[in-house]
Amino acid sequence: MATIQVSRGTRDILPSEVSYWQLIERSAREILDRAGVSEIRTPIFEQTELFARGMGEATDVVSKEMYSFTDRGDRGLTLRPEGTAGVVRSLIENNLMAQGGVQRLWYVGPMFRYERPQAGRQRQFHQLGLEMLGSADPRADVEAIAIATDILKAIGLKDLTFDLNSIGDTTDRAQFREALVAYLTPYKSDLDPDSQDRLTRNPLRILDSKDKNTQKILDSAPSILDHLSDASKARFDRVQQLLADLSIACQVNPRLVRGLDYYSHTVFEIQSADLGAQATVCAGGRYDGLVTELGGPETPAIGWAMGLERLVILLQKLGNDTSVTPVDFYVISKGVVAESQALKLVQQLRQAGFKAELDLSGSAFGKQFKRADRSAAAACLILGDAEAEKGTAQLKWLASGDQSELVQSELASHFEAWRAVLQG
Ligand code: ATP
Ligand code: MG
Repeated sequence: MATIQVSRGTRDILPSEVSYWQLIERSAREILDRAGVSEIRTPIFEQTELFARGMGEATDVVSKEMYSFTDRGDRGLTLRPEGTAGVVRSLIENNLMAQGGVQRLWYVGPMFRYERPQAGRQRQFHQLGLEMLGSADPRADVEAIAIATDILKAIGLKDLTFDLNSIGDTTDRAQFREALVAYLTPYKSDLDPDSQDRLTRNPLRILDSKDKNTQKILDSAPSILDHLSDASKARFDRVQQLLADLSIACQVNPRLVRGLDYYSHTVFEIQSADLGAQATVCAGGRYDGLVTELGGPETPAIGWAMGLERLVILLQKLGNDTSVTPVDFYVISKGVVAESQALKLVQQLRQAGFKAELDLSGSAFGKQFKRADRSAAAACLILGDAEAEKGTAQLKWLASGDQSELVQSELASHFEAWRAVLQG
């Protein structure tokens, strides 16, 4: 029969790769926990309206990349393309802001965007994200950023570049938008088609264009930094000062923007030169207007999201071997009674905290021995008919070849000594 392949833009994370994912998740969890950030899990699909409002109709994601469908009850639903909108919906719906103070939340999981698949760009991909709601203090921006850089450091990534910008408040941006449109309009026909389209819909996003010619035109374009109010400028200075205090190196990139009105002030991106075109591993910013946009109370907020596929690619390039550790005991047996006794011993070993593997092949002892060697186990437990009858088992340490016989019912009496050997 014909085989069925994985869907375009999706992939399996096979056991040989999964240790990288676990390393990332473990490191992140530990750092987030230390920073008092709680995990939140929201549904994979939401009402389409949430993303239309939460990300904005004018974004590429909402206009071209969403996996939207109608369910059997005629509801318009969408597989989440990002995590923030769902988290904010949940906060509002569950009235979590009512407690006052700052909410620090993180999430991890699959996201879905209909994009052209390439290295580091998939249709189902994974993000780990942080959302900090309830503080407009510049220290919140820096705390969020520091958590991101701590996570990247903990998983062993180096040589990352950190771009920072401020897009000011709504008034700053309105003035800048006017200046930008005034500058670009005479060049309209020289811009790439997407940028031409954005000139009326979402001009700030033109600064994001990857088109060479558009970039050249942008070289002399007005800078957002010249359109910040004194208060916005002071805030941006403070963020930079606080980052410097923490020795977090960054470069100001006035072209870095977020095209939506509810974004304000701080925006940032962390990139790696080792990723080719898909260089951004973490992107974030302040979104003071989003909670009200989604019907909640006025709530300042900052957040970021990391693309886990890209982190895994970087870890694989570093070649840090995080492969699974071998088992402590490989248990082989032959004969009906021995086989059931072996199963019991394996259970006992596992319940005592050892890592044990049971050979289920039923093949000759020689073959089972070979597999024991290949498993790189520390020791092998062997049960044949003779052992079954006596209620014993042979224990062989594979490195030294030392072998001894033990009584099955006294298995537990050896645990302490074994633990010492295995840890040594
Ligand atoms: P890009 O410019 O790479 O398309 P973006 O601005 O669309 O990124 P965000 O929405 O800010 O990305 O998402 C945050 C991070 O999630 C990105 O920096 C990236 O690491 C990751 N990411 C986004 N889209 C994808 C994708 N299709 N496949 C893999 N990772 C992705
Ligand atoms: Mg994108």
